[in-house]
Amino acid sequence: MRLEATVKSQAIRLGAHLVGITSKDLLADGPPSADPSYLLSSAKSVISFAVSLNGEFARDFISKKSWRPHCEDRKAIGQTLYEIGDKLVQHLRAEGYDAINVDLNNNYRPEDAATDVTEMTEFHPEFSHRYAALAAGIGRLGWSGNLLTREYGALVELGSVITSAVLIPDAPIPDAEHPCDKCKMCSLVCPVEMVQPRSSSQVTVAGVTETISQKRPNTCCWIGCTGYEGLASSGTWSNWSPYRLDHPLPENKQELDALCTRLQKADPQMQGTDNSFNDYRQAIFDPDWFYYTVCGFCRTVCSPSREERRANHKLIIKSGTAALKMDGTHIVATQDASEVATPFNLKVVVQEGEVLNEHNRKSQWPGQFPLDREVIKYLRTRATPKDINGETNE
Ligand code: SF4
Ligand code: SF4
Repeated sequence: MRLEATVKSQAIRLGAHLVGITSKDLLADGPPSADPSYLLSSAKSVISFAVSLNGEFARDFISKKSWRPHCEDRKAIGQTLYEIGDKLVQHLRAEGYDAINVDLNNNYRPEDAATDVTEMTEFHPEFSHRYAALAAGIGRLGWSGNLLTREYGALVELGSVITSAVLIPDAPIPDAEHPCDKCKMCSLVCPVEMVQPRSSSQVTVAGVTETISQKRPNTCCWIGCTGYEGLASSGTWSNWSPYRLDHPLPENKQELDALCTRLQKADPQMQGTDNSFNDYRQAIFDPDWFYYTVCGFCRTVCSPSREERRANHKLIIKSGTAALKMDGTHIVATQDASEVATPFNLKVVVQEGEVLNEHNRKSQWPGQFPLDREVIKYLRTRATPKDINGETNE
């Protein structure tokens, strides 16, 4: 069997739902993060593979029926992707080639002005899984900029193996079969309006030119996706984040970047050395690490059919807003929820009665996410009934 067929069937056997191959030469017309030689100087080819997310968990997530199953699904899929990549690397090396398994997330190219991730503003990946998947015929870029497949819409997670083996590449999906119909549901469900509905930009990879949304600066998504702001401008729905900033977010890039840096510097997650930004793989395989995800709505809304996307949009805008519970879970806020200022440059939505009841409990919360944990500690020990009733504390 040819090497192309062997690696593809191996990836499928290990759990990939889609797999394709592209070459360094085909990726040469793409943006800098499409260049595989940044990570492997002998790079000649890239094997791209995708695993689809569980649709039921994703629907329950966007409708706020349940939060955790989708988080756990993403973590399990991360493990599968690492394992597929590791096995492909092993196989290619045994055949005498160089090969590396590209980290799944949180690996960004250094930025001149940034000493660490908290000061980053551009977040260009070392190597883009999306560009590789586009070039390898797995999908095309939708209006959201996410990778859309014909089979699963945008509901996939991606992995890539870069190798020195010269492999026969697959062709990108032709324009006539493009899975994005520009329904713009992705713009409608972004709480921080990152995905602009009207202005567009273009990106070319492997001879394919995609017209996608002209997005706001990357720090805008960082703020929404990390969860520093979860509320949509309508005020009637949010993603799964209970945290709030002043509305609207700054339009100006410099101000937005400065806000993001300020928030990251104050975020307890960023103070530890063992966070997922330092080692994503380690976090994914750590049985005690909770895959904290609160957004990704631009992707999760994007099912293959327009009817499903419409239905998903409806689920999101009718899902209500999120609040933080004192046991660390996130719930749908009820009438007695209110915003309380925290020492972390953001406000948190909590249920009044619950915080007051819990106010004097000193027990250590066993929670899973540093920001939630520190906010709960603060609410239990420092916040006063006056704060909880809506008056801000300094
Ligand atoms: S939601 Fe609609 S416009 Fe947005 S990427 Fe998906 S198909 Fe394209
Ligand atoms: S992940 Fe969330 S905040 Fe980021 S662009 Fe998508 S919907 Fe917007």
